[in-house]
Amino acid sequence: MSYKNYPMVSRVVFGRGCFNQLSELLEVKRISDKAPFIFIVDDVFKGNAWITGRIPLAYSDEMVYVSTDEEPKTSQVDELVEKIILTHKDRPSGIIGIGGGSVLDIAKAVSIMLTNKGEAKDYQGWDLVKNPAIYHVGIPTISGTGAEVSRTTVLTGPDKKLGINSDFTPFDQVILDPELIKDVPKQQWFYTGMDCFIHCVESLNGTYLNTFSKSYGEKAYELCKEVFLSDTVDKKLSDEMLMMASWHGGMSIAYSQVGVVHALSYGLSYVLGTKHGIGNCIVFDQLDDFYKEDLKIFREMKTKHGIELPKNICKDLIDEEINTMIDVSLGLEPLWENALGPNWKRKVSRTDLHQLYRRM
Ligand code: NAD
Ligand code: ZN
Repeated sequence: MSYKNYPMVSRVVFGRGCFNQLSELLEVKRISDKAPFIFIVDDVFKGNAWITGRIPLAYSDEMVYVSTDEEPKTSQVDELVEKIILTHKDRPSGIIGIGGGSVLDIAKAVSIMLTNKGEAKDYQGWDLVKNPAIYHVGIPTISGTGAEVSRTTVLTGPDKKLGINSDFTPFDQVILDPELIKDVPKQQWFYTGMDCFIHCVESLNGTYLNTFSKSYGEKAYELCKEVFLSDTVDKKLSDEMLMMASWHGGMSIAYSQVGVVHALSYGLSYVLGTKHGIGNCIVFDQLDDFYKEDLKIFREMKTKHGIELPKNICKDLIDEEINTMIDVSLGLEPLWENALGPNWKRKVSRTDLHQLYRRM
């Protein structure tokens, strides 16, 4: 048996207001005045001087706004890379992503594709990337996905939704400033936060569980319960705790896997474009047969925050579309194996999945 040699984020700064240190962190990484820093920023911050006013632009540095109306696509990454190559003679000094999981994933993928030939879709999978990425920095503005620590960048390509999983994917630097997540709208806060809770549930109940994953998963699980159920934690502390829960949740699945929720949610996303956080919640709410106890807690959290999940989103789908969802889902073998063990194929049938999707 050989164990995975896992790469981690090389440097991290944590603290309220630490976003102010961005310019000093980057200064030492500038290769030349012709090698720009490219800031990839969620367009929700357009006109928000509190954020953009602190982005230090010099020489030929550039700020690129991206929309997160849809989840990242391989074609979107290719376009961004092409534009950077055409605009700047020199390779960038660094790529800085400022936003949620979507923007962090785009920043990671762009930094990889600037040094690797071909198209982003060619690298969807495991360990296909050959050359180290450009220096890349992640600055989360919403917490839960764990994209800030993970070894993957999830992209929808022409024929699949799959991450670029590689040793070159993790950020070289992460800036964790809990102040940046203070204005996230409540529903989104819940959905993305639940992504973290679900990562913990899937990791802690999985057959791949080991002490490494368990230690991170338990901590994140505990933090989520406090953030979403406690009446005594104030908003500032709660933001800090959620930011660290996301980090630990991400670390927990790094050395194990996600499970049934993610497997089914990828199917929804592929066919309906359902976003990750909300999609996970819709799926989780139907999985009494798999995650009974944790679902009770989830429903308590949902009630406490007055969250109403969309219903009947698969109602009008034709069987062919449901079948595509099932194909996408069952294609994610490691997720099923983690959830149900090596004989998972005997424990879940297409009919079961068909019924589950119809109920969502
Ligand atoms: P997101 O990045 O899609 O953002 C969700 C919404 O919140 C957007 O409308 C965005 O504009 C808004 N937003 C973000 N920060 C805000 C702020 N501070 N104030 C106000 N609004 C703000 O959401 P997400 O849930 O963080 O990310 C989902 C994506 O992450 C999916 O594409 C999913 O595939 C990916 N993901 C990646 C990993 C990984 O390991 N790489 C893991 C899980 C999920
Ligand atoms: Zn997730």
